Amino acid sequence: MKSFFSIDQAAALDQADSMSHMRQQFHIPQVNGEDCLYFTGNSLGLQPKAVEAALALELHDWKTLGVEGHFHASNPWMPYHEQLTASLARLVGAKDSEVVAMGSLTSNLHLLLASFYCPTQQRPLLLCEAKAFPSDRYALMGQLQWHGLDASQLLEVHGDGHEGLPTTDNIIQAIEEQGEQVATLMIGGVNYLTGQVYDMQAITQAAHAKGILVGFDLAHGIGNASLNLHEWGVDFAAWCSYKYLNSGPGGVAGIYVHERHHGGDRPILAGWWGHDKSTRFSMPTDFSPIQGAEAWQVSNAPILSMASLKASLSLFDEVDLDELRKKSLAQSQLLMDLLTAVSDDLNEPIHLITPREDAERAGQVSVAFLNRDRGFFDQLLAHGIIADWREPGTIRFAVAPLYTSYRDLARLEIALRQALTS
Ligand SMILES: *Cc1c(COP(=O)(O)O)cnc(C)c1O
Repeated sequence: MKSFFSIDQAAALDQADSMSHMRQQFHIPQVNGEDCLYFTGNSLGLQPKAVEAALALELHDWKTLGVEGHFHASNPWMPYHEQLTASLARLVGAKDSEVVAMGSLTSNLHLLLASFYCPTQQRPLLLCEAKAFPSDRYALMGQLQWHGLDASQLLEVHGDGHEGLPTTDNIIQAIEEQGEQVATLMIGGVNYLTGQVYDMQAITQAAHAKGILVGFDLAHGIGNASLNLHEWGVDFAAWCSYKYLNSGPGGVAGIYVHERHHGGDRPILAGWWGHDKSTRFSMPTDFSPIQGAEAWQVSNAPILSMASLKASLSLFDEVDLDELRKKSLAQSQLLMDLLTAVSDDLNEPIHLITPREDAERAGQVSVAFLNRDRGFFDQLLAHGIIADWREPGTIRFAVAPLYTSYRDLARLEIALRQALTS
């Protein structure tokens, strides 16, 4: 069979890859007795082998210590979340005081918008991208309703991208034109459908020039794209950890709040875990927020979920993030080239949805096989390819450089050719 990227070429690249040994730190699901080809790290990352022991340790401490585990567990539960802070801050490019692991993504968006979306008569609008991830759009609509506003106050920016999605330029243009009426902007920094990375720095700059508060949903950004939230001046951000961060289903999420908002007088939908640590347990009547993103914590920490995230973050701690991003770009480029070559060879029309420019894409490649339906996707599954199908005909492949090997890509090409010619 013809090949664009052979198993031998892949072996050479895997050998030269400085982080290829990280793959051994993960459990790879088996299909037909072999490692499956896992391309859904953008949906649920694979399980790091260290997670099992990390969970067992917390279960053991709970079993043997009961409530005393808050102070005397191997990793005391009371300050447990603090162990995650430095790793998260490094991944999003923030100061330690600006991030905290907490809650779940959509709930966190609500908490942050409660503080950062304060519409006024002059500035009622909430700006987002057209076709935002449904949960985000529901949350934004819910916020409007909560403020007694309606859908006309949601400024959804359409544009020249795939299916009318906006480009960075489209967003900046909307800010230029209508920015004076916008209170807050909240956009998915990396689009879940196309894998497009927005220029968050340029968007933040343009929005701030118009007096708009800026937030990003980084569900597809953290652990994947290069992020520098503090330097870019982003006001707030939120993410989940079960996608590129590999923390496991429903894993604990996280937030970022720029230090300029710490200890200010923004409204916070407060809970006791956001209260000043030194007086929290004297159970005072009035809320006195922690000086930092931790002020937004509502409840005590879900330790089991945090234990699994901690195990997974320790793998990110070991790698150079620039190298991680470089490998991700190399693999997604190869994936696009390989899809194009197979399409040309077999006369099989495809549409590559993901932008070609390095700066505009992260780990995901979205492609439509124009003459194929869901049956084709099911055939891929039978060949051990775990990818993601979105109606009407988009397949999303994501590389996760901690565990995606070049061999995976060579095997993907073989399987694609088989499925397309059988
Ligand atoms: C994955 C994802 C979510 C999921 O939200 P949960 O609250 O974690 O269920 C939300 N928004 C975006 C953009 C996502 O990619």
